[in-house]
Amino acid sequence: MSALEPVIGLEVHCQLETHSKLFSACPLEIGAAPNTRTDPYTWGLPGTLPVLNREAVRKAIALALATHCEIHGESQFARKHYFYPDLPKGYQITQSDRPYATGGWVDVPGAAPLRVRLQRIHLEEDAGKNLHAGRSSGVDYNRAGAPLLEIVSEPDLRSAEQAAAYLRELRGLVRALGLSAANMEEGTLRCDANVSLRPRGHDVLGVRCEIKNVNSFRFLARAIEAEIARQQDLLQQGRTIERCTLGFDGERDRLFVMRSKEDAADYRYLPDPDLPPLSISAAMIEAVRATLPELPADRRARWAAAGVAADDAQLLSAERELADYFDATLAAATARRAELPARRVAAWIVTELLGKLAAEGLPLSRCPITPAALAELVVLVDDGTVSGRTGKDLFARLWQGEASAADIAAREGLQQVSDTSAIDRTIAEVLAAHPQQLAALRAGKDALRGFFVGQIMKATRGQANPKLVAERLAAAIAAGEPT
Ligand code: ADP
Ligand code: MG
Repeated sequence: MSALEPVIGLEVHCQLETHSKLFSACPLEIGAAPNTRTDPYTWGLPGTLPVLNREAVRKAIALALATHCEIHGESQFARKHYFYPDLPKGYQITQSDRPYATGGWVDVPGAAPLRVRLQRIHLEEDAGKNLHAGRSSGVDYNRAGAPLLEIVSEPDLRSAEQAAAYLRELRGLVRALGLSAANMEEGTLRCDANVSLRPRGHDVLGVRCEIKNVNSFRFLARAIEAEIARQQDLLQQGRTIERCTLGFDGERDRLFVMRSKEDAADYRYLPDPDLPPLSISAAMIEAVRATLPELPADRRARWAAAGVAADDAQLLSAERELADYFDATLAAATARRAELPARRVAAWIVTELLGKLAAEGLPLSRCPITPAALAELVVLVDDGTVSGRTGKDLFARLWQGEASAADIAAREGLQQVSDTSAIDRTIAEVLAAHPQQLAALRAGKDALRGFFVGQIMKATRGQANPKLVAERLAAAIAAGEPT
């Protein structure tokens, strides 16, 4: 184990899906043609004034509640000044020393559960987007003024995997709350990673470098690993780490220095004179709290109590649609068969359904099997009406567009044979057909038992109840003579 410990804190930007921008009525639409969602305020024309979007504030409150933050009755918007073509006003409106939410945490599930504390969450406006094509450049201002939440973690992460797991959990939370598509490829979820090293066991923080705007989970992990390796090399050579801002070139798998770190003073922060302090009343907080859906962590706890395996619960709670699908299937299945174990429904979804979706490259939204149809099938297998093998065949038929596993089974006589006398008859036939193997089995060659089970299942076209076959076969062998 290395004597140096990585310390990582993330700053995550999430673009809220609101109807209009943070400080103007200008509509917001991801993917619209460049510069078709702008207005005089977006352009920063003199004489325009900001008016705060209440929908963005409600969404901000929702995330703060879901992450256990303290929400402040009064917070402040500030101007952060810098020059860049994508920032027409010459400053960004953000919250600096008085954010609306502080404290709080995100619990990250997994083999080693982890609680990541949050320093703060604040509201700010986004900048536009510089576009480069060959020798020319342009700016798209559609995004300028879009509402962003910046979620700043404490430096509680210790590895690239932990950082990615935390970001995944945060993304799941944002999606479950319906705040944003939170899509890294689209840029509605972005992440800066601060990385430092320190001697293991020490609690003083080392000098950090910040990797800006990582735009995929894979790149996040790779960028952090590359930065840990870079700092380790420098320290082992007896050199010091200089604070800097880095970019990560995913194509070349390389970090590059963007700039030495700027200071807060460089931005000339000042309270925005055009905006009153943001006041959030207790009534507003309670109104938002009343609209919160069940959160992924609560869902996992409920499923765990119902006996669902922890890793299945984690997988099923990662996306809201999938969690809803599982809950709908579970409800439909237990309505038919109260004693059906929840973990069995989970297993069908995790192995069969997700396996098939992955194999076909389809999202859940295009899944041809409804929760009700899947529930019916799971119940048929669980109560022994059809065998597990027939169940898998029926799953394939449902996937092909047939509506009801019970109908197919009834129509085609696929019910599992649990009729003892029918099974006994087949066993007798199979034993009689293989006298040599039977003699060898009785002489102690126990491996032949599997051969006979296989023959019996074949003779019943897979429909015999395997447990019953094993029992009756043992009895028939022990009896000395097939009955
Ligand atoms: P800034 O806004 O200048 O980037 P902040 O103090 O807001 O600085 O910190 C930003 C992020 O950096 C936070 O997520 C914090 O946890 C993380 N961080 C601060 N110090 C360190 C450090 N020494 N090593 C790793 N991460 C750090
Ligand atoms: Mg920063």
